[in-house]
Amino acid sequence: MYNTINGHTKILGIIGDPVEHSLSPQIHNTICKELELNYVYVPFKVASEGLEKTVEGFKAIGITGFNVTIPHKNHIIKYLDEVSDEAVLMGAVNTVKNVNGRLFGYNTDGNGFIKSLKSRDVSVKDKNIVIMGAGGSVRGISVKMAMEDAKSITILNRTLEKAQEICDIINDNIGNVCRSASLDMFTLEQHSKSCDILINTTPVGMAPYIHECPVEHLDFLTSDTVVCDLIYNPEETVFLSKAKERGCKIINGWGMLLFQAVASFQIWTDKKVNSQLIEILQKVNKK
Ligand code: NAP
Repeated sequence: MYNTINGHTKILGIIGDPVEHSLSPQIHNTICKELELNYVYVPFKVASEGLEKTVEGFKAIGITGFNVTIPHKNHIIKYLDEVSDEAVLMGAVNTVKNVNGRLFGYNTDGNGFIKSLKSRDVSVKDKNIVIMGAGGSVRGISVKMAMEDAKSITILNRTLEKAQEICDIINDNIGNVCRSASLDMFTLEQHSKSCDILINTTPVGMAPYIHECPVEHLDFLTSDTVVCDLIYNPEETVFLSKAKERGCKIINGWGMLLFQAVASFQIWTDKKVNSQLIEILQKVNKK
């Protein structure tokens, strides 16, 4: 019996702080219900000082797997038995699978982003990509885009060293495709007027500050540029609205969240999430 908790129910979950806002429980419990699987996905608010004990407890109760969000994506690594090469390069784990008491770490954020682009018929192969911001999310998505043969990745950030740090990791380990520059309107225009994909990863414009925008204008863009925002609340940021006015295809962060969740679920259960179920999941954030 699915979504009825009984003696056979397997546990999945997410640890983070804060975790109350997370949409992952809705996404994963919908997958369990639709696939008629006897799993339950629970949010656990875990402060930094409680991380080690939580991991021990999870092992003790034989949890099937769990997601990891801010602020634990990096610190979790030292408590894991094995970490995928990709997650090591990304410096972060967002998915842990328990196999007979051994914990394996993965990162599905970059994969989720690539899949969200693919679902809108956008490929990063041979593309010139410009990213605004150089936070935790950028290391994941830019490592994956470099692995998927992006032609160039330019990371623009207020704090230049953080952008350069990510470039060094990519250039040293994957291929010499990444460069950094400071984030200002002049540099943005220089780098993005002929780019294929422009991505905002700064939190500027996220609810409740929905009237804010990380750029003054996007008048330099042509309609050939695909413009993404990792923010999914609001659905259309001011940044994306400005890009839409230029005639650009726009993609918000919901697909990334959804597809990283699907990738995590597949790691834990080996179950396939088909396109019909993806359609159902697309509406989870509208409930
Ligand atoms: P983060 O680690 O805090 O990094 C934020 C980045 O934005 C930093 O590079 C920071 O620059 C820059 N920034 C912050 N405020 C700025 C401002 N006022 N002007 C210019 N730059 C500014 O955050 P993150 O984890 O990378 O997340 C970034 C965004 O992506 C958030 O909105 C988050 O909700 C979203 N996100 C979405 C998904 C998804 O699945 N859709 C997944 C992960 C994250 P400095 O380095 O100079 O401080």
